[in-house]
Amino acid sequence: MKTLLFLLMALIATSCSKPSTYHTNSGKVFGTYYKIMYYAPQDLHAGIQEAMQSVNNSLSTFSPTSTISRINQNDSTVVADSLFTVVFNTAQQVSTVTGGAFDITVAPLVNAWGFGFDPTKHRTQATIDSLKACVGYQKMALQGGKIVKSTPCLQLDASAIAKGFGCDVVAAYLEKQGVQHYLVDIGGEMVLKGNNPHNQKWKVGVQQPKEDSILISNQVAAILSISNAAVATSGNYRQFYYQDGLKISHTIDPRSGRPCSHNLLSTTVVAPTAMVADAYATAFMVLGNKDSIEAIANNQQLAVYLLYAQGDSIQVQYNDRFEPYLVR
Ligand code: ADP
Ligand code: MG
Repeated sequence: MKTLLFLLMALIATSCSKPSTYHTNSGKVFGTYYKIMYYAPQDLHAGIQEAMQSVNNSLSTFSPTSTISRINQNDSTVVADSLFTVVFNTAQQVSTVTGGAFDITVAPLVNAWGFGFDPTKHRTQATIDSLKACVGYQKMALQGGKIVKSTPCLQLDASAIAKGFGCDVVAAYLEKQGVQHYLVDIGGEMVLKGNNPHNQKWKVGVQQPKEDSILISNQVAAILSISNAAVATSGNYRQFYYQDGLKISHTIDPRSGRPCSHNLLSTTVVAPTAMVADAYATAFMVLGNKDSIEAIANNQQLAVYLLYAQGDSIQVQYNDRFEPYLVR
């Protein structure tokens, strides 16, 4: 009798459990927006926010108590947490592969050019040259959970990889909750899994860049159909200012110490994780048109789509691996 009652109660409990629907959560994080869509029986916003907060606590240079800020302050008691360790190791790998085009030790230069967590507007060629001594991924290492700097003026800026990593951490949280269909978008970096509400692969637009305009274009240069992968876009058409007639972009070439200036307008990268896609998207912006096109021709790992200016027109170049994602 008792068993029958238990079975009856179990049956009622399952029939009352909520069916899955698509939920959308949005807000602001890491100085940008986020939009998360997922197919689940219940709203998971609180858990999503907690996941993003853990990334902030580790990697935000805008929070003075984060792991990265304490490393920047040369706090001798700081221990690298697990999130910081993943990002630092990946950043070092991308730096090695790109010959230092991507480099999270670029912080002193980013700040000197008026961006980053400690922006300055007063600089001379001499200050830029001297800051180069404080930049270089080979000058920093993780040993037994501790960051070892070859010179104390080294500082980190994970802005070009942390948004992507944030997407991966939110995706991992959703996976843990058993969610199989989701889109995680943090400031345009995305992880896509399963199907959209129309039961198709997710559709992602690549923005048509507008050279020399602060207005963000609503036009799309391409539409991607994509699932079970991550995508990130870097562009010099959103964050820049003019000085003495020169465009100063927020992407800095750590090798020259100067902002990138070439005709590459945006780079879109598809990779297994948003962290890797994000880092390479910035790396290609630094490498510029010619080197990026050469680099993608030999690349077996990444799908890459480049938009660059030629005269008054915008040209497109992508590798074979990118082709299957293009709807138009
Ligand atoms: P985008 O969408 O253009 O890629 P991100 O925020 O992803 O923008 O990356 C740009 C930010 O990364 C800059 O604002 C700066 O903080 C940092 N950064 C600039 N140059 C480099 C570089 N060469 N390597 C790594 N990080 C960089
Ligand atoms: Mg980036």
